Amino acid sequence: MNKVSWWQVLIDPEMSWREAQQFNAAADGINSVGAQIGDVASRAARLELEVARLRTALGVLTQLLTDGGAIDKSALQYRLEAAMDALEAPPPAAAPSAVDSSTDTSTPSPLVQPVTCVGCGKSYEMRATEITPSGTMCAVCFQSSHYSKG
Ligand SMILES: [Zn+2]
Repeated sequence: MNKVSWWQVLIDPEMSWREAQQFNAAADGINSVGAQIGDVASRAARLELEVARLRTALGVLTQLLTDGGAIDKSALQYRLEAAMDALEAPPPAAAPSAVDSSTDTSTPSPLVQPVTCVGCGKSYEMRATEITPSGTMCAVCFQSSHYSKG
């Protein structure tokens, strides 16, 4: 947002120097908030790219290991599901409570965060997707892809 210059105040008979100062202070605030939003947005974009790279790397590694017979695909899937379930499980309660804590949604698991399927472009919960060398796929796209036939 542009600020009012001393020259504009000089040539505009309806604007006082005090008004210009107030306007410029507001402009500074707006510019600062705008810069912060831009910073957060660029950080989010970098993290998104990083997650996509990690998912791709994990998918390639998984495919390589199962294709080469180094690890059993079903064993890997079982172990991964168990690890993901453990990640989703609520932390052990410090003290017994009469209140049911299973309905507490104050800290959502990253596994329920939406991710976009590279096949159909729709959004799914992360736990409902498969990681492939091409990217994250929903169950339907994964089943119809060549990755599920390994
Ligand atoms: Zn899909």
